[in-house]
Amino acid sequence: MLIVQKYGGSSVADTERIMNVARRIFKTANAGNKVVVVLSAQGDTTDDLKARANEITPNPSKRELDMLLATGEQQSVALMAMALHTLGAAAISLNAAQFGLLSTSTHGNARIRKIDTDRINSELDKNNIVLIAGFQGMNRYDDVTTLGRGASDTTAVALAARLHAGKCEIYTDVDGVYTADPRIVPNAKKLNNISYDEMLELASLGAKVLHNRSVELAKKYNVRLIVRSSMSDAEGTIVWEGSKVEKMLVSGIAVDENVSRISIVGVKDEPGIAFRVFSALAKEKISVDMILQSIGRNRTNDISFTVACDDLAAALSVLEKDDTLICDHISNVPKIAKLSVIGAGMATNPGVAATVFEALYDVDVNIHMISTSEIRISVLIDSEDAKRAVRSIHDKFGELNVNLSV
Ligand code: ADP
Ligand code: ASP
Ligand code: MG
Repeated sequence: MLIVQKYGGSSVADTERIMNVARRIFKTANAGNKVVVVLSAQGDTTDDLKARANEITPNPSKRELDMLLATGEQQSVALMAMALHTLGAAAISLNAAQFGLLSTSTHGNARIRKIDTDRINSELDKNNIVLIAGFQGMNRYDDVTTLGRGASDTTAVALAARLHAGKCEIYTDVDGVYTADPRIVPNAKKLNNISYDEMLELASLGAKVLHNRSVELAKKYNVRLIVRSSMSDAEGTIVWEGSKVEKMLVSGIAVDENVSRISIVGVKDEPGIAFRVFSALAKEKISVDMILQSIGRNRTNDISFTVACDDLAAALSVLEKDDTLICDHISNVPKIAKLSVIGAGMATNPGVAATVFEALYDVDVNIHMISTSEIRISVLIDSEDAKRAVRSIHDKFGELNVNLSV
């Protein structure tokens, strides 16, 4: 079988871990499989490289930043090839330019456009284990791009889809997908399986165990995705469509702490205001998440919404520049937490929202905004309340049996 494996930064953080992973890869190859391995940069390398750039300038050229960040993954694959050679395995490392991963041109957050498989297939035909630098691409100007933080997962799933791999295994520092971040909620439960849709919500709402675009791709191309630990043989979590039959009431809780809230206070209560505000932000490619418009009073309204922390300054400058936006004032909270409860069973089980609110009330957590979809409820709360809130909600649903089938 052709297997794509991906090992994250902590799994290859030092020489000992590289050797540990090399032995696992070799074992998979020795069992008669063709193996393509995607690697992330070692440990905190990506953050460290970014910090080094920022020592020089707070605003580095995006092209040059990508040139710099992409070196992290290239180090990992070269070292892993050497490690495999010491075990007597045939292995070769390739970066995105060498095998051909073409991306869009947006530096720092490029999308995959096309993957060339000729080089990879010819190396597999020579019985090589193929080691691929994750997170990076090449745009049509032959410049190096990166695919967004955490995107080595996406490189792996895209390759698995393109190569028609039997499965795509994501090896990380926890032994699967849990009902909440096990580092925040120690009694979180490991899920044996989860549907693509639930996983997509969890990933998009802040559970960084999988990059959200990797889940989108896995769903689109029906890739059998398995999340497991590189440090143990514990069975991981399978992400696939089949697990829909086991619809859970609540499959997980995610927290995104990278959120800012903006409020436009005292805007005129007339048609077209929301359109003007949000189209101006969209023009600057700023994604807006939760939106709340208060009930009008004295012919004015308040509009509040959230953006990613990184977009706060740009969003405020768009709004301040807009002379047509007449309001009393614009305020912001630079860091606030979005907590989301996700579960495919929610649509058919009334009372989930009430239980979430009760759990927050139990620990005296104030809610600033609420939004819901068929399979999730999100609330905006103060950052310092986030950990306490996740634990309380988790306990409440634990009592109700998280795996309750419907
Ligand atoms: P890698 O470097 O292997 O890509 P990441 O740090 O990106 O690993 O993702 C793994 C981390 O995701 C875990 O260490 C854990 O703290 C965090 N995490 C957040 N939510 C969840 C969840 N629901 N299940 C498992 N891990 C989670
Ligand atoms: N090294 C990159 C990052 O830290 C990509 C990844 O780890 O998936 O974001
Ligand atoms: Mg990751």
